[in-house]
Amino acid sequence: MRGVMKNYRVIFLGPPGSGKGTQSLQLAKQLKVPQISTGDILRNEIKRVSPIGRQAEIYMTEGLLVPDDIILAIVGSRLKEVDCKNGFILDGFPRTVSQARSLKHDLGVDVDYVLFLDIPDDVLLKRLSGRRICSNCQKMFHIDLNPSAKMEYCDFCGGQLIIRDDDSEYTVAQRINVFREQTQPVIEFYQNTEGIRYFAISGGQDGNDPPAAIAERIRIALQIEYHT
Ligand code: AMP
Repeated sequence: MRGVMKNYRVIFLGPPGSGKGTQSLQLAKQLKVPQISTGDILRNEIKRVSPIGRQAEIYMTEGLLVPDDIILAIVGSRLKEVDCKNGFILDGFPRTVSQARSLKHDLGVDVDYVLFLDIPDDVLLKRLSGRRICSNCQKMFHIDLNPSAKMEYCDFCGGQLIIRDDDSEYTVAQRINVFREQTQPVIEFYQNTEGIRYFAISGGQDGNDPPAAIAERIRIALQIEYHT
């Protein structure tokens, strides 16, 4: 049963490969708010060969964070759009304590919930190294965990499946390190921020619980809040 509807301004934190893209998209549909993925926005800029895309690509292919001024400009203008007025889900932002501070103090944006998808590094490495993405519709597959029936072509649109540039073995390890060093402190920041409800969502005993089980935990975490 759904309680009183209110604003859902949600931040999804999770290391690369934790499933935060999938979960945040699903939650956004349920809550009828936009999902804003800074990674997706940057990949689109790269595709369009825009000035932002050209700058961002240098960092992204190395698994490093794109500089704050670029990211804050993107997020600031996206959050001003009318579809964000009843809430939003941020996927992939903030990634540093400095971005978290800027969200509040420079962009003037408050947040209600922070969800952290807690998945161990060995599980992330395995997931990311087998990941494939459709070069046409961007749908994600995995060679072992979620293969396409059409092998190296997309089940949905027939596009060719490729390895995302930043899913190469070196970059994957780098992105996980960057997460642990620069993004993990954001958790503590929000745990110590008044007015924010923080939840760590477990990936299960071995970190490999199916997406539906994780989605249920997220729903329960938010629903507890609906009724209080
Ligand atoms: P993602 O799809 O969220 O894993 O993001 C892919 C890449 O985009 C990251 O490895 C970073 O290089 C860049 N990126 C995305 N969001 C941010 C952010 N908030 N701050 C800095 N870099 C970002």
